[in-house]
Amino acid sequence: MQLTRELEDTNRGVVALYAELDEKADHLRRADEMKSRFLSNMSHEFRTPLSSIRALSKLLLDRIDGELTVEQEKQIGFILKQSESLSELVNDLLDLAKIEAGKIEVRPAHFDIDELFSALRGMLRPLLVGERVELVFEEPRGVHVMETDEAKVSQILRNFISNALKFTEAGEVRISAQLLEEERAVCFSVSDTGLGIAPENQQIVFEEFGQVENRLQKRVRGTGLGLPLCRKLALLLGGRIELESEVGRGSIFSVVLPLRYGQPAQPAAAEPAQ
Ligand code: ADP
Repeated sequence: MQLTRELEDTNRGVVALYAELDEKADHLRRADEMKSRFLSNMSHEFRTPLSSIRALSKLLLDRIDGELTVEQEKQIGFILKQSESLSELVNDLLDLAKIEAGKIEVRPAHFDIDELFSALRGMLRPLLVGERVELVFEEPRGVHVMETDEAKVSQILRNFISNALKFTEAGEVRISAQLLEEERAVCFSVSDTGLGIAPENQQIVFEEFGQVENRLQKRVRGTGLGLPLCRKLALLLGGRIELESEVGRGSIFSVVLPLRYGQPAQPAAAEPAQ
């Protein structure tokens, strides 16, 4: 009798605990939704004034060429640079908020990796002006066509490459694509001969706003949102990101993506079975 009552009490306790946990989870979900909505609305509100500031400063620099003093030109250049940084931050925040809210669409289609590489080469050329770093696109190995969201692959690779250029003073940045036959996946890698990242910081760089101290950090522009965004995009495409790095030698950022979106890659042979 006593035992039955005790069991009933415990049962009631467990039910109450579950109800409380459920309510808390619901509360957290709502708070998370509100955060995503807030970020998304704010980012939209920021975008329009920022693009006007950017467009008008560019116009001022182009139109009144020669009529501005050196100091005035410097100051408008500063406005332009700062508004470009803020735009990057707003775009990254908006993308993160969209992914978190499940509002980013994946548009899979067949595309040619060689063509993606030549488009990237064209887009990144302006970043190389005055750089002592060579950008090398290797011939894709074992694969030419894949089926996934090309724009998102391009976004991940642009992020990796612009980081590699930012944190490499001399040498080369090498981009490759290779078929991982057993996994039915493609591994894109961006390797650099730059500063490298210490083992204890290799997790931090994937956290939001996670930037690590190094001698170039103060000179380069950045939001600390690029890599977390890349990681979320890779997950969205059913893939993963890997990092190998050694201080003083350089880094290799890789993204492994299923050859065909929607067909999960086989687990890598080296990974223990789940
Ligand atoms: P951002 O580059 O905008 O600061 P990211 O999230 O892309 O933000 O990168 C976070 C940080 O990771 C960088 O600020 C830098 O400290 C480090 N990092 C990223 N890529 C590299 C790289 N190729 N070499 C060395 N450090 C890097």
